[in-house]
Amino acid sequence: MNHQLERELNEFFTSLKEDGLYKEERIIEGAQGREISVGGKAVLNFCANNYLGLSDDRRVIEAAQDTMKIFGFGLSSVRFICGTQTLHKQLEQAISTYLRTEDTILFSSCYDANAALFEPLLSAEDAVISDELNHASIIDGIRLSKAQRFRYRHSDMNELEKALEASASARRRLIVTDGVFSMDGDVAKLREICALAQSHDALVAVDDSHATGYLGETGRGSVELCGVEGQVDLITTTFGKACGGASGGCISGRKLLIDLYRQRARPYLFSNTLAPAICGGTLQVLSILKEDHSLRKRTLANADHFRNLLKTAGFDLIDATTAIVAVMVYEEAKAVEFAEKLLDEGIYVIGFSYPVVPRGKARIRVQLSAAHTKKDIERAAGAFISVGRTMGIII
Ligand SMILES: *Cc1c(COP(=O)(O)O)cnc(C)c1O
Repeated sequence: MNHQLERELNEFFTSLKEDGLYKEERIIEGAQGREISVGGKAVLNFCANNYLGLSDDRRVIEAAQDTMKIFGFGLSSVRFICGTQTLHKQLEQAISTYLRTEDTILFSSCYDANAALFEPLLSAEDAVISDELNHASIIDGIRLSKAQRFRYRHSDMNELEKALEASASARRRLIVTDGVFSMDGDVAKLREICALAQSHDALVAVDDSHATGYLGETGRGSVELCGVEGQVDLITTTFGKACGGASGGCISGRKLLIDLYRQRARPYLFSNTLAPAICGGTLQVLSILKEDHSLRKRTLANADHFRNLLKTAGFDLIDATTAIVAVMVYEEAKAVEFAEKLLDEGIYVIGFSYPVVPRGKARIRVQLSAAHTKKDIERAAGAFISVGRTMGIII
């Protein structure tokens, strides 16, 4: 490597560290769960997407193990060559049944599902209309297509309508939104979005990665919560969060569109099949969710409890009703320090800063899980309050 590049990169890292933007990995010594071991110390975990506490569930682990014994470790192939087992068809069918959609196509991740979503469907004479706070994988997926791009201010339905009017000459139009916005924890206005889509003859795609499994009457996500089932053409989601947390994702929706992805989606055509163990584990998760609604109820009750304790203490929270509680700190370095001090108190949370959230909007994102006990939540809230007072974040 030449010295010039070496110097430039070192300067880059130094400036990241000075601005509190340098991201460190903390090493977990063991399985994901409610309590984890970090640096030899047991801490309560409030920063995993393990909303239902299924990441270390015995039933899921055993299902994955059993599946591996029958279907092997890996496929060494993409789906259309020799990488589709009965198992993959079974999982696609189970997801369609769960989400009440016509068909489903699996991907290695939801990142890949979003990379696949736009390019086969939209070209230069088409338009995609996107919420400004959409997940990075949606933004990257849009970049892979030649569609004209329109962006509306976060959940601003007037701006969405203007974008629909401005794109009226496009052949096809697709509105795309996160179902739950990962950094704020708020839910997209899907009722309004679907109504606008209908009156302007546009398609709707929802990425429900932060909602599938726990939000809505039976855990089917924001689409169910907002009562717009059947009006959303495409849903993308991950199995890497509430649904066991291993990896894998999908696009689920109208059969003709899913057929198109099987013919043309590049992450599907050129990347390896989802591993059997993940299919088996995810099938087990879906069967648990079908029968047991206690987990998702506990997730939401836990989030409400934590939110109320912090609100009462005077913290500035982003208004939300999901399992994500965003505690605003604003200043980047302060958010990092806050998280470090909480870790000293045995509470593991992460300070989020640019580029994950806008500059000057740093925050601690707390994620509640069905695995947390009432005592865990009260202990966490107590630590937030005492550290928050010491740091002058609350009075
Ligand atoms: C986490 C997330 C993804 C990525 O999912 P992976 O399966 O981890 O690739 C995509 N979209 C949204 C909205 C997410 O929150």
